[in-house]
Amino acid sequence: MSEELHFDLLVLGGGSGGVACARRAAEYGARVALVEGARLGGTCVNVGCVPKKVMWFAAERAHALASAAEFGFTVENVRFDWQALVRGRDAFVARLNGIYAQMLEDARVTVFRGTGRFCAPRTIEVDGQRLCGEHVVIATGGQAVVPPVPGAELGMTSDGFFALQTQPRRVVVVGSGYIAVELAGVLRALGSEVDLLVRSDRLLRPFDVLVRETVAERLSGQGVRIHWRTQPASVARQASGELLVTLSDQTTLIADALLWAVGREPNTAHLNLAAAGVQTRANGQIEVDEFQNTSASNTYAIGDITGQPELTPVAIACGRALVARLFLNQVDARWDARVVPTVIFTHPPAASAGLSEEAARARFGEAAVKVFVSRFNPMVQALAAEKRQTVMKLVCAGENQAVVGCHIVGEGADEMLQGFAVAMEMGATKADFDRTLAIHPTSAEELVTMR
Ligand code: FAD
Ligand code: NDP
Repeated sequence: MSEELHFDLLVLGGGSGGVACARRAAEYGARVALVEGARLGGTCVNVGCVPKKVMWFAAERAHALASAAEFGFTVENVRFDWQALVRGRDAFVARLNGIYAQMLEDARVTVFRGTGRFCAPRTIEVDGQRLCGEHVVIATGGQAVVPPVPGAELGMTSDGFFALQTQPRRVVVVGSGYIAVELAGVLRALGSEVDLLVRSDRLLRPFDVLVRETVAERLSGQGVRIHWRTQPASVARQASGELLVTLSDQTTLIADALLWAVGREPNTAHLNLAAAGVQTRANGQIEVDEFQNTSASNTYAIGDITGQPELTPVAIACGRALVARLFLNQVDARWDARVVPTVIFTHPPAASAGLSEEAARARFGEAAVKVFVSRFNPMVQALAAEKRQTVMKLVCAGENQAVVGCHIVGEGADEMLQGFAVAMEMGATKADFDRTLAIHPTSAEELVTMR
C-alpha cells in the first residue's frame, strides 16, 4: 500500500454533480481529487441527457420529414441509418469525455481512475491507493432498476438502449416515467413498433393532469400501443431469437427487445459507507440535510444518491452551493430554489415548473387556487390537415395570484419554459404575466395572454 495522499476535497464520482463541485472548489483554491470508475461525465453525458437528446433530435427530424409535404416539399427516398446516427452520437459523447478530462486538468483537479470505496472516515481506497480528504463529497449517482420478473435479464435498461447497434423492429417498453415515455417516443418516431406497458392507469404520475393526459394522447396518436394496468409476468427467448413477453393478463407479445424503464436506485451498496460513518435509508439513498451534510462529519452527498430530484441541474446546483459554503465561507449557501423546471423530451416536448394543479390545491386549499388553461392549434400546424393542439396551464395561488405552476405540452415547450421559470423563481404573479408584452406570432405568447 502506497502512502496516503491528502486533499482539501475528495470527490467520489465524476458525473454531473462530482465534476461540477470538483472544478468549482479548485477554482476557489482548494486542492481537489476526484475518483471516477467509468467514463467522465457520468450518467448525463454517457447514458443519459446527452445521448438521449441526440436521439430526440433524430426523432424530431423524422416528425419534421413527415410533415414537410404540408409546406410544399416532396420528400422522396427517405432512408434512415440507425448505425450512422449511433456512430455520430457516440463520437460526440467521446468528444465530451475528452473535454471533461481537459477541463479537470486545466482546473488542476487530480483525477484517479478506478472504483473507490471507503476504508475509514473521509478516506477512500482506489486501486490500492488511500486518499484522504479534509472534506469528502459522495456523488456516485444511480443505476436502472430491473424488477424480479422471470427472464428479466433478457431485457435491457436505458444503458442497453444506448448500446444498440441495430434498431429493434418491435420493442416492449415497461414503465411510465420519463425514460419510458421519452424512449418509446424516439423508437416509434424512428420506425419501431412500440408496446408500452404501464402498471397503473396513468403515465408520469407526479405531473399535472394536463401533461399526463396530453403525453398519453400524443404517444397513442403516434402509434405507441399503451397497455394500461399491465405488467410483464415473464420474458423468454424463443428459438427464433425473438422475445416472448407474457403479460399480467396472460396474453403475449413478440418483440425484438424489451426495455426496463421502471426507475433508478442509488449506487451506494458497494461504497462500504459503514466505514465512513454514513447512514443510508432502507432504499440505499444517503440522507442529507439542506446543506448536503450526511450523518458523518465533513462528509457530504449530492445528486441522484440523495433522493433530491434526479436531474442534472439539481446535482450541479447542490455541488456548487456546497463548495461555496466550504471554500468561500458562504455559511448559508445551499440549493434552495423554489421551482424545479423540467422537460420530458417527448414529441412534442412537455415542460413543467412548480406545482401541479392537484398539488397546489392540496397545499393552498381549493379556494386559494385559480387555474388558467389554453388549448390552441400552434401556427406550425397552420397548413396541416390534422391538428394537434398545444396545451398550457398556469396554476396561481394566494391573494396576489402568484404563479406557482406552469405546464406546457407543445412544439417549443422545451425552450419556452426556462425564462418563465426565472419569473416564477422571482415570485411573478398572474398580473406580472398579464403586464408582459406578448411576442407575436409565437406559441409562448399564450402564456401572457391567458384569461
Ligand atoms: P452520475 O451522473 O450518475 O455520476 C455518478 C458517477 O459516479 C458515474 O460516473 C459513476 O461511474 C461514478 N461512480 C459510481 N460509483 C463509483 C465508485 N465507487 N468509484 C468511482 N466512481 C463511481 N437529467 C436531466 O436533467 N435532463 C435530462 O434530459 C435527463 N435525461 C436522462 C436520461 C436518462 C436515460 C437517464 C438515465 C437520466 C437522465 N437524466 C436527465 C438524469 C441525470 O442524468 C442525473 O440526474 C445526473 O446524471 C445525476 O448526476 P450525479 O452526479 O448524481 O450522478
Ligand atoms: P421515473 O421515476 O421517472 O419513473 C419510474 C416509473 O416506473 C414510475 O412511473 C413507476 O410507476 C414505474 N414503475 C416502478 N416500478 C415498476 C414496476 N415494477 N413495474 C412497472 N412500472 C414500474 O424513473 P425513470 O427510470 O423513467 O427515470 C429516472 C429519473 O431520471 C427520473 O425520475 C428523472 O428524474 C430522471 N430523468 C430525467 C429526464 C429528463 O429530465 N428529461 C429524462 C430521463 C430521466 P408508478 O407511477 O406507477 O409508480
